Amino acid sequence: MATPLRHDWSRTEVQALFDLPLPELLFRAQCAHREHFDPAEVQVSTLLSIKTGGCPEDCAYCPQAARYDTGLKAHKLLSVEEVTARASAAKAAGATRFCMGAAWRAPKDRDVEKVAELVRAVNALGLETCATLGMLSPEQAVTLKGAGLAYYNHNLDTAPEFYGEVIHTREYQDRLDTLDNVRAAGMKTCCGGIVGMGEDRGQRAGLLQTLANLPEHPQSVPINRLVQVQGTPLHGTAELDPIEFVRTIAVARILMPASMVRLSAGRESMSDELQALCFAAGANSIFYGEKLLTTGNPDTEKDLALFARLGLRPMPLVEESKTVHASIEAGDSVAA
Ligand code: SF4
Repeated sequence: MATPLRHDWSRTEVQALFDLPLPELLFRAQCAHREHFDPAEVQVSTLLSIKTGGCPEDCAYCPQAARYDTGLKAHKLLSVEEVTARASAAKAAGATRFCMGAAWRAPKDRDVEKVAELVRAVNALGLETCATLGMLSPEQAVTLKGAGLAYYNHNLDTAPEFYGEVIHTREYQDRLDTLDNVRAAGMKTCCGGIVGMGEDRGQRAGLLQTLANLPEHPQSVPINRLVQVQGTPLHGTAELDPIEFVRTIAVARILMPASMVRLSAGRESMSDELQALCFAAGANSIFYGEKLLTTGNPDTEKDLALFARLGLRPMPLVEESKTVHASIEAGDSVAA
């Protein structure tokens, strides 16, 4: 029987995991991984920006914030036809989950209605759906759930005590409230953060501790490595040691063993060797083929070559749902 999931991690315990000798940390992460997943399987999601740029928030890492001059080309909400075409291409390339991102502080109700239409169209293709639209009210969460949205992404970004260094236009509590609304509506949460923003190890531990101590572990936990974009305040931040990134993945796997731990932003600049270490540390989800929506799918081909090199395979949708849901429910009911 799987070890019960915990929601009572102390900062000291989490920091002690970070401080383990790397082989011991990897061993513990691999044991946790195998309790819930086949370690050869990697869940594959594709992300599409359905509304880019022009965001009024001030997240210091983000090129979509209107206040930073990053040269980003903004666009309005895409049409159902455009999104359906791109979701079909993602499915043909092997994605099982399609994530739609819109750069809003919080969507208006009429925006939510439009996204609900997109969700229905993508669901009809047989893909799982995820959306990230900013802060959601309880009613908006219910509308999206009613349209069939499976996951809602809303990241905590960093530890509570470092948050004020990165974002000033919304509170940490606002994020926790949106996650509450998503869970209350019956959707699964995708929630993680970004490392390499100048935080220290204790603050990385603080992010993971906060995630693991949520009332339910997020079913997906994206761990992003800061992509430094010229024009954003965090451009020029000292690079995070890659081994520290691997440690972060391993600790996330140990704290949230039944969740998908996703290598997200920053993966395109990682070597195959670093990604291999991340998979060995318990990462089992990626964003895939980020350029597949343009031409040639070079990213997809590179990812498939990496999978072949490492003996990994994409996780089928049905099995993924069965594994995650069964183990989370079992673990949570035991813990309760
Ligand atoms: S709310 Fe989202 S889109 Fe807006 S600046 Fe922050 S990260 Fe970027």
